[in-house]
Amino acid sequence: MTNEHQPNVVDLRSDTVTQPTPAMRAAMMAAPLGDDVFADDPSVNALQEKIAALLGFEAALFMPTGTQSNLCAIMAHCQRGDEYIVGQLAHTYRWEGGGAAVLGSVQPQPIAHQPDGTLALADIEAAIKPDDAHFARSRLLTLENTIGGKLLPFDYVQAATALAKERGLNRHLDGARLFNAATAQAAKTGGDVYLEARRIAQCFDSVSVCFSKGLGAPVGSALCGSRELIARAHRVRKMAGGGMRQAGVLAAAASYALDHHVLRLADDHALAQRMAIGLAGIDGLAVEAPQSNIVFVDLVGAARSQSAALLASLAKQGIRATGLYRLRFVAHLDVDAEGVDRAVAAIRQFFASTR
Ligand SMILES: *Cc1c(COP(=O)(O)O)cnc(C)c1O
Repeated sequence: MTNEHQPNVVDLRSDTVTQPTPAMRAAMMAAPLGDDVFADDPSVNALQEKIAALLGFEAALFMPTGTQSNLCAIMAHCQRGDEYIVGQLAHTYRWEGGGAAVLGSVQPQPIAHQPDGTLALADIEAAIKPDDAHFARSRLLTLENTIGGKLLPFDYVQAATALAKERGLNRHLDGARLFNAATAQAAKTGGDVYLEARRIAQCFDSVSVCFSKGLGAPVGSALCGSRELIARAHRVRKMAGGGMRQAGVLAAAASYALDHHVLRLADDHALAQRMAIGLAGIDGLAVEAPQSNIVFVDLVGAARSQSAALLASLAKQGIRATGLYRLRFVAHLDVDAEGVDRAVAAIRQFFASTR
């Protein structure tokens, strides 16, 4: 059994495909509700207090999506004509429809990533503009952790955010998968996952966290920051149409996930390892060693021309992934070792039968 809703499907496209568990649904059903636009929803208020306290911030705001959470953060930090420094591959720059520029008139200053996902300190430094009417005002550094499944080294996070602070920039973390980062970091330090999440978060002025990825909630993100910043973000959220009413039914799922699904992320990381080990040694596949719950596999040489056929063959067997020449397999709550092994066997079989 890999997914009780679709027992024959092994859906490795994303950790967003999870179904709420029966216990999570029960928590949603039982949630006390109110109108959150009047700040009256006890479940939303409880979630906001819980995540703010957990990550060490004064306040938090529940958001329908991570995209809206990042947008509200950038617009709360920046005015029209300001700019934010960001990686070329960062979600806030590349995958959010250009929202900061379109809706916020905030100019992105993208810079190239190093192979480990970091932005070189010298590149950040060089991107910061002097105070001169020719330039947009450099206002914010945005990092993402994990990025492309990679954990940013903690000493790097400290150094980059210290540099930004020293140069008068605010710091925002797109921590959609912050708890995956914390899980990977805890595996290195031997520390507690919640405390590692807090250590990472405390390097920043604001942090956005997704509940709808590996944490397994159906909907929702939270933005954490100072009371003042969250008040500004609250205005933007309203403007963006994100003022929700009896949202406690969703916040309860997020709260449940924070209590029950953080420590199990290590299982997803182990599944990703299992998948990478299973795929190692197949001719034509270059498997990147996973650092969290995501496995990237490049098709190289002659295997590139077989990519579409491979995906079609997998799809026929109910095995779903994304990518074309660079395949992405994501472990989550609704896959297990049996499902991963089935995916590995199907890929091995495909290459064995086409050679
Ligand atoms: C998923 C994701 C988001 C937000 O996504 P939504 O689909 O809008 O909730 C933001 N940043 C990163 C890195 C993500 O993976």
